[in-house]
Amino acid sequence: MSKEIIDRALYLLTYNSLEENTSNVNNKARTFYGRVLQQCNIKPTTVIPTMGVCFNKFILKLELVYNPEFVASLSMKEVIAVLIHEMEHITRGHIYQEQGNKKLLNYAMDMEINQYIENLPEWAVMPDDSMSKFESYQYYYNLMKDRLDNDKCPMCGGDLEEETESNNSSSGENEGMSSNENNNPSSGENKSMSSNGKVCNNCKARIVDDHSLWGDMSKEDAIKGVNDLIQRTIQKNDYSYNDLPDHIKDLTKYLKKAINGMDIKSMLAKAIKKSVLSAKETYSWSRTSRRYGVFSQGSTSDHEPSVEVLFDTSGSISQDEFGKYLSIIEKLVKSLNAKIHVSFFHTTNYHRQSYGRGKPVEWDKIESGGTCLQDSFSFIEKVKPDLTFVLTDGYYGDISVKDKEMSQVFFLISKEGDVKHPIASRKWSKTLQMKD
Ligand SMILES: [Zn+2]
Ligand SMILES: [Zn+2]
Repeated sequence: MSKEIIDRALYLLTYNSLEENTSNVNNKARTFYGRVLQQCNIKPTTVIPTMGVCFNKFILKLELVYNPEFVASLSMKEVIAVLIHEMEHITRGHIYQEQGNKKLLNYAMDMEINQYIENLPEWAVMPDDSMSKFESYQYYYNLMKDRLDNDKCPMCGGDLEEETESNNSSSGENEGMSSNENNNPSSGENKSMSSNGKVCNNCKARIVDDHSLWGDMSKEDAIKGVNDLIQRTIQKNDYSYNDLPDHIKDLTKYLKKAINGMDIKSMLAKAIKKSVLSAKETYSWSRTSRRYGVFSQGSTSDHEPSVEVLFDTSGSISQDEFGKYLSIIEKLVKSLNAKIHVSFFHTTNYHRQSYGRGKPVEWDKIESGGTCLQDSFSFIEKVKPDLTFVLTDGYYGDISVKDKEMSQVFFLISKEGDVKHPIASRKWSKTLQMKD
């Protein structure tokens, strides 16, 4: 029976068939949401008391799960409103941006979106009168966090009190919760948002749905899941880019960028991990310590791993692109506590500086010119950093170095560059191509 309710709600949502449609979520967005939900597995569950978005690890897809009792307790308009609520969480990136006090975040995110949605259950949390309207959840979060830090109720700013037997069991205060109190996760959870267990007896509002399932997704899974869902909806319904609601246009751009960045990151991370493992057998810095892993010299506790990043400034790679990869590299080697040096080269290695720990790249030192790696690699051969990255187009001649003197070098070749560059086959080199 609950399935019929959901199906009917999806139909009404997609075709905007409810007479009084006064929602701030416009018709174009409502139709799009209805179509997205039709591409989504929607399954009953008793794991959560309301409704929520989760990631199915077996099929690598986002799913919507709902508790049949919860759905049955709502009016049709409320079901539609809660479905829109779920879509707003998805399209605003809430499901992958969570960090901070979970409970406050849940309220803040619901506050952000509920203002746009008509016909939500009456207990759905809204910003209070002193909060400004239509702000982002970060605004509500910060405001509520301030209140809580001052031992006030985060939602209304009132005083918090010890939760006593009487206010705990008093059913009168929960009148706003309607008959499905037992189905509501946040009512059962506990009312307290403060760490000392104090509660506010004025606030009856609750979050609409269940955000706890988001925690099971990695950010990567969530972003891929959202992208997959949006793209399938676009294809199945023959949406042209211009037909998409504006915020969905922005979302598709964001997702594309995030996914490209992720793929490069995971590719690099894998390559680094692999080379570090193989280096373990080859190089003298192979003795491991708990803190630095294979990057530690083991015997010398003050060994600081070093990373060299070489930038071919002959012209085919932009500063932006270099900056982007540098920050990816920086993040990947961060856990190694490595010292990073950045060099610029054309026919010689003409500028070298330390980077990070407050020191930016000195872009004003950039010169253009031809490309020759000999000077840079004679230096690498001598200095023996633990890892070297070379960002280049791959167009240059061969070099002369002693293979056994070389440590691991990653070549990151530009999109139009030559992955079969002259140094690609050396055993200490590894080549990856950049993407958008
Ligand atoms: Zn309160
Ligand atoms: Zn919510």
